[in-house]
Amino acid sequence: ATPTSIMVGTGRAAELGVLFRRGDALQSLSNVQTVALDKTGTLTQGRPELTDLTVTDGFEEADVLLLVASVEATSEHPIAAAILRRAEQDGLSLAPVEEFNSVTGYGVSAVIEGRKVLVGADRFMIREGIALDDVEDVGMKLGQAGKTPLYAAIDGRLAAIIAVSDPIKPSTAEAISALHALGLKVAMITGDNHATANAIAATLGIDTVVSEVLPEGKVAAIQKLQAGDRKVAFVGDGINDAPALAHADVGVAIGTGTDVAIEAADVVLMSGDLKGVVNALHISRRTMRNIH
Ligand code: ADP
Ligand code: MG
Repeated sequence: ATPTSIMVGTGRAAELGVLFRRGDALQSLSNVQTVALDKTGTLTQGRPELTDLTVTDGFEEADVLLLVASVEATSEHPIAAAILRRAEQDGLSLAPVEEFNSVTGYGVSAVIEGRKVLVGADRFMIREGIALDDVEDVGMKLGQAGKTPLYAAIDGRLAAIIAVSDPIKPSTAEAISALHALGLKVAMITGDNHATANAIAATLGIDTVVSEVLPEGKVAAIQKLQAGDRKVAFVGDGINDAPALAHADVGVAIGTGTDVAIEAADVVLMSGDLKGVVNALHISRRTMRNIH
């Protein structure tokens, strides 16, 4: 493409709210064969709601929610915000915590009035030696419904199974159909558990799912999608998406996401609407096809 056609292309993209931070991204994007999408905040709104809370025998719902919310008060994860909103709705006042610890991709823990409280994914409970046998089916059902199951343990015993649900953005389904119509494969990369990720992917017709990925594993997930010299674009919004955005053949950040993601990206979508990815692809192909 000529410098003029690149200018025309990036100008047209800007009118549609798609900013090309690098001129050669227009060319790289036209060669992309797979579009990989982060789940939380990219495919979904990134604002989960607490939908289920079931306590095990011997525990009171209000007590458990108070302890769980108190631990989550220190966490910055969107799941924490969902739990805190519910505690606030129930009029609970939080307790002071000691020894707060956050294990990325697993969950959080703290000591409250001498009681050790853990909240997180099944793999967090298993790592901490909490038996989940009695609730395996419940967790599986929640996952199959596209909800994220979480577990709370108090003093070494399972106290509750909790679920949060993060609504899919209204623009997501149409954008995925449009990507398929362009002949592209669509992948999803997430730290969420396999059952939940597969359920969401199935409703959206996503071709490849990479789930239970730790933040440092996102680059490896992109590398796997790049096998056989396939060109991969990655779309993400979070701090932990930055390495994958930098590593992908084209990194696309959601403008409403974190600054770290935007800095690492080649292309920035001004809104959270995934139509922007489709527009960017159309423009790149048109620019590269028309003028050589
Ligand atoms: P994602 O951004 O895809 O949700 P994360 O790596 O942030 O991936 O989280 C992966 C999983 O770890 C979550 O789905 C949840 O099960 C668990 N987790 C992480 N942080 C918390 C937290 N503050 N409270 C409860 N669970 C958490
Ligand atoms: Mg995200």
